[in-house]
Amino acid sequence: MLCPECSSTHKSGQPLNGVLEVELSGTLESNDPLDFLPVEGQYFPAIPVGNTPLWQPENLQKKYGFPELYLKDDGVNPTGSLKDRASFLVAAFARKHGIREVVVASTGNAGSSMAGVGAAAGLKVKLFLPKTAPQAKMIQALQYGADLVLADKNYDQAFSLSLEYSNTRGGMNRNTAYNPMTIEGKKTVSIEIFKQLKKAPDHVFVSVGDGVIMSGVYKGFRDLLQLGRIDKIPVVHAVQASGSDAICRAMESGDFDGQAESPVRAAKTVADSISVDTPSNGHLALKNLKAFGGHCFRVTDEEILCAQKELSSTCGLFSEPAAATAYAGFLKQKAALDSNETCVVLLTGNGLKDINSATAKIVVPEKSINSLDEL
Ligand SMILES: *Cc1c(COP(=O)(O)O)cnc(C)c1O
Repeated sequence: MLCPECSSTHKSGQPLNGVLEVELSGTLESNDPLDFLPVEGQYFPAIPVGNTPLWQPENLQKKYGFPELYLKDDGVNPTGSLKDRASFLVAAFARKHGIREVVVASTGNAGSSMAGVGAAAGLKVKLFLPKTAPQAKMIQALQYGADLVLADKNYDQAFSLSLEYSNTRGGMNRNTAYNPMTIEGKKTVSIEIFKQLKKAPDHVFVSVGDGVIMSGVYKGFRDLLQLGRIDKIPVVHAVQASGSDAICRAMESGDFDGQAESPVRAAKTVADSISVDTPSNGHLALKNLKAFGGHCFRVTDEEILCAQKELSSTCGLFSEPAAATAYAGFLKQKAALDSNETCVVLLTGNGLKDINSATAKIVVPEKSINSLDEL
């Protein structure tokens, strides 16, 4: 999976070295996102991944004076998160190469996604989750028939255990960043945005944990640029939770060298899907941000929960905290933007995946009634 030479220099507590990227070669006439992927269409399972809505939240456009604000709702994917784009390509790759078992570590969404898409593809899925993963994501994975193992500590531990499992017992590892198809699969979101807008947006807001979605977003636009379909790469705003900000820290210091602390700084945020001690795709994420003038900044848990509530109550779009993080990033950054520019907020996961954290900004009725006189 990794470049053997580069990955041999890996230090514990540091992002993976030698992460591979797929290269686009030759020409392409089609605008179909699937035709941009390195596996032929016949191998993809029959489950409708992608083609998610890009829509204009009228109430927010008016409230903030951004007539070109768009929401890309990837929470409507079959398992409720953008991770399905990666699982879809991984499943097709496995089918093409006769691989029967896929092994994956996840904070929750990549696992439930691989379990669901893998079920549609007839694959066996071995899943490692931290024991603290939201219950809905575990139940989902079990419903889809995955074999679930809980790691006692955290996601980083689940990651190591899953690698040890695939190295010693077999199966193809789908860990995010480690398997290059995970980055490549996620690029279809940018190709769809381009098709839907008929141009590249000026700004894209992305929430960032391991930095794979962000690199996938860049890869899609880079392919479009290479093919001459667009003439610029949008400004990517990489938004992190202030309690899980390794990529922001690396942007500020220039690299990850100073982060080889022992023990590594423990991530803590309400946005479980972006809670990562060591971002596995940190190096590529940083390289893309530097090469294309991207920004990286933080939002607090309070800002994330307020953003989640505002999206739900003004747009009818209920997203999980890690997804609402991208919208919290837009709110934080908007004063510095030209309000006539096209801004796309990428909403990566459905709110029903973690209802516990969604109770922070609402009041649940305490008692039931028998008659309206009690109101
Ligand atoms: C995985 C995930 C992210 C972050 O993606 P990374 O590739 O880890 O940066 C954001 N939001 C949701 C809902 C996710 O599941």
